[in-house]
Amino acid sequence: MKNRFTSDAYIEVSGAREHNLKNIDVKIPRNAFVVITGLSGSGKSSLAFDTLYAEGQRRYIETFSAYARQFLGNLERPKVDQITGLSPVISIEQKTVSKNPRSTVGTITELYDFLRLLYARVATAYSYNTGEPMVRYTEEKIVALITETFQDKKIYLMAPLVQGRKGHYRELLTSLRKKGFLKARIDGELVDLDEAKPLDRFKIHDIDVVVDRMQVNDSYASRIKKAITECFKQGKGTLKVWDETDGKAHFFSKKLMCPTTGIAYPEPEPNTFSFNSPYGYCPTCKGLGFAEVSDAEKIIPDASKSIKQGGIAPLGKYKDNWIYKQVTALVTEAGHKLTDPIDSLPNSLVKTLLSGTDKKVSIKSSVGLKEYQTNYEGIETFVLRQYREADNPKIHRWAKDFLKTISCPSCEGKKLKKESLHFKIQGHHIADVVNLDLNELQTWLDDTEKHLNKDQLKIAGEILKEINKRLFFLLDVGLGYLTLDRGSKTLSGGEAQRIRLATQIGTQLVGVLYILDEPSIGLHQRDNHKLITSLKKLRDLGNTVMVVEHDKETMEEADHIIDIGPLAGVNGGHVVAQGAYKELLKANTLTTKYLSGGMQILPPKEIRKGNGKKLTLTGATGHNLKDVKLSLPLGKLICVSGVSGSGKSSLINQTLYPALHNEYYKASKDVLPYKRITGLKNIDKVIDIDQSPIGRTPRSNPATYTKVFDEIRALFAEIPEAKIRGYKAGRFSFNTKGGRCETCEGGGIRKIEMNFLPDVYVKCETCQGKRYDRETLEIRYKGHSISDILEMTINNALQFFEHQPRIARKLQTLVDVGLGYLTLGQQSTTLSGGEAQRIKLASELSKRDTGKTLYILDEPTTGLHFEDIRMLISVLNRLVDHGNTVVVIEHNLDILKVADHLIDMGPEGGNAGGQIIAEGSPAEVIKNKNSVTAPFLKKEFELVTP
Ligand code: ADP
Ligand code: ADP
Ligand code: ZN
Ligand code: ZN
Repeated sequence: MKNRFTSDAYIEVSGAREHNLKNIDVKIPRNAFVVITGLSGSGKSSLAFDTLYAEGQRRYIETFSAYARQFLGNLERPKVDQITGLSPVISIEQKTVSKNPRSTVGTITELYDFLRLLYARVATAYSYNTGEPMVRYTEEKIVALITETFQDKKIYLMAPLVQGRKGHYRELLTSLRKKGFLKARIDGELVDLDEAKPLDRFKIHDIDVVVDRMQVNDSYASRIKKAITECFKQGKGTLKVWDETDGKAHFFSKKLMCPTTGIAYPEPEPNTFSFNSPYGYCPTCKGLGFAEVSDAEKIIPDASKSIKQGGIAPLGKYKDNWIYKQVTALVTEAGHKLTDPIDSLPNSLVKTLLSGTDKKVSIKSSVGLKEYQTNYEGIETFVLRQYREADNPKIHRWAKDFLKTISCPSCEGKKLKKESLHFKIQGHHIADVVNLDLNELQTWLDDTEKHLNKDQLKIAGEILKEINKRLFFLLDVGLGYLTLDRGSKTLSGGEAQRIRLATQIGTQLVGVLYILDEPSIGLHQRDNHKLITSLKKLRDLGNTVMVVEHDKETMEEADHIIDIGPLAGVNGGHVVAQGAYKELLKANTLTTKYLSGGMQILPPKEIRKGNGKKLTLTGATGHNLKDVKLSLPLGKLICVSGVSGSGKSSLINQTLYPALHNEYYKASKDVLPYKRITGLKNIDKVIDIDQSPIGRTPRSNPATYTKVFDEIRALFAEIPEAKIRGYKAGRFSFNTKGGRCETCEGGGIRKIEMNFLPDVYVKCETCQGKRYDRETLEIRYKGHSISDILEMTINNALQFFEHQPRIARKLQTLVDVGLGYLTLGQQSTTLSGGEAQRIKLASELSKRDTGKTLYILDEPTTGLHFEDIRMLISVLNRLVDHGNTVVVIEHNLDILKVADHLIDMGPEGGNAGGQIIAEGSPAEVIKNKNSVTAPFLKKEFELVTP
């Protein structure tokens, strides 16, 4: 490895110009732990991801053959003059790992693979018939056993060759004849091999070749012995005894066998424990662990309605169609009417309607009197069939609304076949073990290691070492509450990123540049230093670790900090300070002001009293929640805190929010279980403000999302010249015909699809990127066309429209949330999560609100600098001052500090959490001895210099 002081001691970037970067030069020490910080939108990601990572990827792909490259596509060179000293780059992102329902924490960390190996090597097998340990007999023992069991009976000794497989087996039958065998038992029938015909190749067959037939007694002892040896030779270690007296077949094996019932298991292999392999998975669910079945409650949501009124939801209100004719016939035949409320119909009739009948149902055609005899499959089967077979995604989604997911009835969600679940270590099968949380798993493994005998230890030692190494890193980044069978797609971004981090440390790569985006997200202050330790470990292996981060503690621990600013967007893009923490503080930037305490976020002098009303949710039991009672004092800023995995999002995002949403919007979002909610009348709306994009097409932008563009278009329609020409507001829309440029359909850019290469966007040659036709652009307000307006930053637009109160008011809220640097027409797909979230907040602020809204935010400080957080707090305060209630899930102490009411969950993550530990004003919570958050918050209050 190269020394820090050789010419490659630095990654040197010169002339970086991606997005808002101002042609900057940056020198980054290698093999160091580097933090990039700055306001949201200052250009951190543009440097870290869009320049360094993008260039690393591009160089990596260039090393591929030309042939491989044509499938991957050429990556465009980032806008930068030169980068030297760049090593291979790996970005550890927050994106959720995989949408695949088979991907679990166990599979992505490879821990499950090692556990499978462990089970294949040292687990004890038990009979699923009797529960006794399986035995492995020697040939002598089996001879004795057969002689004893079948004394004086006539038996066939056979070698099983084919079991439950398709094929014609012509060659097999011929070769058996050639070997001199005379008879075989094919699909239960004894046949002469001379007369055996090839089998039906599309059917499943069993073939046992008969080795010998005899009456069992002492005079045949040596013949029995010889026949058994031959059977084992032909049958690869297994044989069948067919008892002529009772016609039953008995199985014997030199492999694992149940001593009482004779069932045998194949030798365990890692695949035996894989839910992704036919050797291991449950045949019913093929390893998914769940099944989708129809849900009678969703099909008949309100049984007081009649069928005619649409009481059977998938049928809807009465129509003249085939299925309604059948339903009518069935109801009439039973002596009832379609107008009867469903709950007055006999249960048997309702059951027939739902699950169908074997009897023919006769219906009349609409024209004429012809009668048809039809099959009636039932609503449930109909819905399931649509769900499975419909090609149309709309129908598929429609059908899904009437289904529910249940644990697979065969394996009860354990995903494996029953043989696999009868291999145990210390009394536990592998599905038990993946249900332990990682802390419990570690204890169990330690205990297991103590109980293994010497031989087992020899085999398992290395495997346990690998498992422990990986486990250690996962525990180290605060993920001890996760279980191995947790589905990857249910992980939060922060959890997924930390799993990746732990996995990367486990791979022990050297000489890599790792780039991470806010790894502290989702992590409680208590676990922060563990994370920092892990990052340093990655560095100490011989890597450069670069994190985009706002956390003060991380910066204190970093070798080097790069501060981007001075502000955001066009007003950012420079390196305003760099160096180790102490050096950095000598500079005078927004960041250093906050770090040194020159600027700080102060707790309010007085907390709000609220409006005295409450919203209460009781009996929440989803995931790890322990019958939680959540009580929200309305008209306050409420924060929910607690270590990662304590149950915050289970309670707020997965119980409270969907429960309220379903109440207010008559929807059926999935909700975790709870008993009831009181105080529903005290609010009238619930809004979730997350960081998802405000629009998925390049056609939406801040102006369209906040609807300020509607006002601007109306203003343009009022201009005398527009009136003379008869242009209405619609003329100034780039989303509808009649004013926009038709070449690019108002996009201003044109997508050029390249074979094998990424799509390329070019400026539209007709309108030169202006989006409108010439005539529309001739209309000008104070000298500016509608296209010019879209190019303005929001700050400039506010000045420009200062005498237009309706427009100015909306723009002002965007400026208030710190987004004045964006242009009105910036494509929403290029906005960061934090920017998108603040645009949503701004548009909420500009509404004439009812003052009875409940807003829910999950870690809104993601991606935010101290100064951004200060702005965010003032927005949240304004919402609350209007009489609304804001509930924020947060770890950030600056936010917790300014709350009116805190709800602290814990005490720990996973099973050890799921309770509300402390609630009340920050001053009250600080005093709580059981709260993990309290000591950190206390320190924060003490730091405040009045
Ligand atoms: P940070 O990571 O510091 O929050 P970014 O580097 O993401 O900031 O963004 C810097 C500026 O560049 C912001 O004004 C952002 O809106 C803008 N920007 C980011 N991505 C794009 C893009 N693809 N096209 C145009 N502008 C972009
Ligand atoms: P927090 O939001 O406080 O980090 P969560 O509510 O995400 O905590 O997690 C609480 C517990 O519930 C943890 O043990 C977590 O592993 C578990 N959990 C969360 N989501 C799911 C899920 N979709 N499926 C199974 N378990 C989950
Ligand atoms: Zn199953
Ligand atoms: Zn155009």
